[in-house]
Amino acid sequence: PAQVNEVRRTLDLRVSGAAVTKPCISFAHFGFDEQLLDIIVKAGYTEPTGIQKQAVPCALEGRDIIGIAKTGSGKTAAFLLPMLVHIMDQEELDRNEGPIGLVLAPTRELAQQIYTEAKKFAKAYGLKVAAVYGGASKMDQFKDLRGMGPEILVGTPGRLIDMVKMKATNFRRVSYLVLDEADRMFDLGFEPQVRSICENIRPDRQRLSTYLIFPGMGYLTILRVHTHHSAALQRDVREE
Ligand code: ADP
Ligand code: MG
Repeated sequence: PAQVNEVRRTLDLRVSGAAVTKPCISFAHFGFDEQLLDIIVKAGYTEPTGIQKQAVPCALEGRDIIGIAKTGSGKTAAFLLPMLVHIMDQEELDRNEGPIGLVLAPTRELAQQIYTEAKKFAKAYGLKVAAVYGGASKMDQFKDLRGMGPEILVGTPGRLIDMVKMKATNFRRVSYLVLDEADRMFDLGFEPQVRSICENIRPDRQRLSTYLIFPGMGYLTILRVHTHHSAALQRDVREE
C-alpha cells in the first residue's frame, strides 16, 4: 500500500472510494488480448496516460467511476478500452439488438471525435460504432443506425432520444454508460434528457437513487474535462 501511494503520488493521481485497485503503469499489464494491444500500438500509444493507468483497471473491475483530468489527458481511451473488453465479455453478441456501450456527449464536435476514436479501437474486434447528433439529417441517421445495429453508440442527448422515439434503436441492452464532459452536459441544460436516457437503460436492472448513482448498473464512467465546477455535478458527487 505504501508503494501504491508512492506510485500515485509520482503520477499525481488522487483517488477516493473503497479499496481502489492499484494503477497499471503499462498497457501490457491491463490484461488486454493481442488484437487490442495491436490496435493500441498502431494508434501510436506507447504508455498509458495517468488517468488511463488508474481508471482502466478500475473500469475493468466493473466499478462505477467519476474521472477528472485535464484536457488532452486521454480520457476517451480511458473509457473506450474497458468498454471494448466489456462488450466482448457479453455472452450473446446478437446483431441489431441495440448498443451495449453508450456514450453521451454535450456537443456534436465531441460526439464526432469520440466516434473517430471508438472506430479506431473497435476495429480490433470488428465491432460497429455509430454516432448521432443535432445539426444533421435525422432521417439519414435513422436509416444508418437502424441498418447498422452498432454495439457502440455515441451521441448528443437530444438526438439520442429522437432516435429511440423513432425506433431506430433502443437502450435495453446498454450496460456500459459514459457521460463524457458530464459537467458541460449539465451546464448546457441537458439534465432532463440525460435523466430520461438513464431511465431507459436496462429497466430490468436499474435502481436509481439520484441521476449520477446507478446501483447494479455495472458501469458508469463520468469523465470531466473542464476545471470549472458545475453545481449539479458537485451536489451529486457529494451525495455519492
Ligand atoms: P481528453 O478527453 O482527456 O481531453 P483525449 O482522449 O481527447 O483527451 O486525448 C487527447 C489525445 O491524446 C488524442 O489525440 C489521443 O489519441 C491521444 N492519446 C490518448 N491516450 C494516449 C496515450 N496513452 N499515448 C499517446 N497518445 C494518447
Ligand atoms: Mg475528452
